[in-house]
Amino acid sequence: MKVTLACPSCDQPDAMPVDQPNDWQCTACDHRLHLNAAESSLPTCVVCGNHELYKKKDFPHWLGMTILIVAVILSTVTYYSYEKWWSWSFLIGSAIVDGVMYLLVGDVVVCYRCESHYRGFKATAAHHPFEITIGERYRQERIRLQGSGVRSQESKNAKTPDSSDS
Ligand SMILES: [Zn+2]
Ligand SMILES: [Zn+2]
Repeated sequence: MKVTLACPSCDQPDAMPVDQPNDWQCTACDHRLHLNAAESSLPTCVVCGNHELYKKKDFPHWLGMTILIVAVILSTVTYYSYEKWWSWSFLIGSAIVDGVMYLLVGDVVVCYRCESHYRGFKATAAHHPFEITIGERYRQERIRLQGSGVRSQESKNAKTPDSSDS
């Protein structure tokens, strides 16, 4: 099982296996982090201890879009120059490729709070897909933490946490 995380201190991204005995140390700022790991079911985030995690398909969005765009271009070209049968082949083929890849790729479990990504183990029924209400709660929490942490001089034109659209 591997975890991809951002350093809590300086946001430097890093990836490592979870089941290692040593503390993780940030390569940029030497921040140390003890991972209370080892349970394969992953009930809590080993980085921050948060118990609310969500799962999603480990399928990069750009890849799906690239396949789709290439298929559309190919089908458009073949539509005018060759036969329409090829156009349909590319469109249907790309849909099949998308579907097969979606089935083949595993789940990635993500921590709502620190957004660490866990790969290489099976998501259980305890892991639900992303819920916007929970995600929004943690987004507000991050804004509050940033606001309390950053005491800048320019407090007059401070950023508004756009709470109007809720
Ligand atoms: Zn760091
Ligand atoms: Zn976490």
